Amino acid sequence: MASIGHVAVGMLAGRLYTGRRAWAAMAGFSLLSLAPDLDVIGFRLGIPYDDPLGHRGASHALFTALLLGFALAAVAARRGAPFRRMAVFAVAVLASHGLLDAATDGGLGAALLWPFSDARIFWPVTPLPVAPIGRGMLSARGLEVVCIETLWFAPLFYGALRRTPPPSN
Ligand SMILES: [Zn+2]
Repeated sequence: MASIGHVAVGMLAGRLYTGRRAWAAMAGFSLLSLAPDLDVIGFRLGIPYDDPLGHRGASHALFTALLLGFALAAVAARRGAPFRRMAVFAVAVLASHGLLDAATDGGLGAALLWPFSDARIFWPVTPLPVAPIGRGMLSARGLEVVCIETLWFAPLFYGALRRTPPPSN
């Protein structure tokens, strides 16, 4: 994925969490939604793609989403956020990343079931084009991926950004 879909999920989460177009919440959840891809640093550290700690490995697992989501909610709760609501949103946003990557048509699948299984998983249907990694995004193929993803996730962007009509009297 070209990250567009992950941002769309994050923006919609921010909208649903706050009930309004709250840009800070949308940006925060978008960063959270993108966070599992920080694992690409593994390429620089010499960690192979197919390693459990490689790209789309442990960082993309549902178990990791659960742990990180609850940890984040605990931190946010200390700052006054409602723990349960934040935990639900943080876990869902983090888990969405691997679930969406498993719907891409290339690379290795996501290790959704790590640490119980290292298997790289794809869905039976993979409608999302895999994005070139790094500078490869600055290419015709990268632009094509961005366009296709934008179309797929347009309903989420709409849900996040739509105006709510003023209350009628
Ligand atoms: Zn990813």
